[in-house]
Amino acid sequence: MEIEFENVSYTYNYKTPLRKVALRDIDLIFKTGKINCLLGKSGSGKTTLIELINALLEPTKGKITIDEFTLKKGVKIKNINDLRFNIGLIFQFPEEQIFCNTVYKEITFGMRYFNYKKDDLYNRAKQSLAMVGLGEEYLKRDPYTLSRGEMRKVAIASVLAYNPKVLIFDEPTVGLDDIAKTNFIKLLKTLKEKFNKTIILVTHDVDMVYEVADYIYVLQSGEVVIQGDKYKVFNHKLLNEYGIRTPKVLNFIHMAKKLKGIKLMQRDNINDLIKDVYRNVK
Ligand code: ADP
Ligand code: MG
Repeated sequence: MEIEFENVSYTYNYKTPLRKVALRDIDLIFKTGKINCLLGKSGSGKTTLIELINALLEPTKGKITIDEFTLKKGVKIKNINDLRFNIGLIFQFPEEQIFCNTVYKEITFGMRYFNYKKDDLYNRAKQSLAMVGLGEEYLKRDPYTLSRGEMRKVAIASVLAYNPKVLIFDEPTVGLDDIAKTNFIKLLKTLKEKFNKTIILVTHDVDMVYEVADYIYVLQSGEVVIQGDKYKVFNHKLLNEYGIRTPKVLNFIHMAKKLKGIKLMQRDNINDLIKDVYRNVK
């Protein structure tokens, strides 16, 4: 499922003195089966952008096309439920989207809402939990007794359970430990490679972006200021000015060249890079 923004703007409190332009003339495409990343400082408009996709907000200008759906000011969306069924949004603060008193009810809520057959619920709930690395025993737990990391996994599982074509993650790795982060990256790759999902990843974690991104948009004050693949974006001169750090892998490559004159290839993750370093040392 492809998502296209054409000249989209969004202003909060449009008709009041408190009006605040959050997005201005955005043109972009999030492609099917790709990991599309959104980077940008706090307040640059990332959350606003993804809330537009889910029709939680309506553009003040321009048009968003998602397969047969058109989101446009003043145009009624034909089947908003069908749209939301296809767009899985995992919010920045998972506790905000958890409201049932057992993990089982929580995970099956979306499925029941979208009319899944009763017989399927238990198995799908179990499978979704397994995908985020939690066992069946969690189904009986009260979500509010879970750690933040576990809660986030349950929030992700609840969305995976009803199988939307698009998955949007807003700051998914904040507060996760390294192992949980590595597992999350594996999950992203599986969702892309095995299930051909359209993935939109909003994050400050440039190391993760460097490892997984197929395409990157950098936002600054509501506008797209850099876009391209990771090689283009992370070697862009103005990157740091837009508040984006250079990924550790790239920093290391730059340092190796500057200090030791060693030329290393751009690798996706630190393990591949270490192998190259060993080869150089020999
Ligand atoms: P990000 O997710 O990149 O941190 P947001 O999309 O949350 O950015 O915010 C973009 C801009 O819109 C910011 O200047 C923010 O203060 C403003 N904003 C966000 N939500 C509201 C709101 N409900 N009312 C008014 N302004 C808002
Ligand atoms: Mg945000």
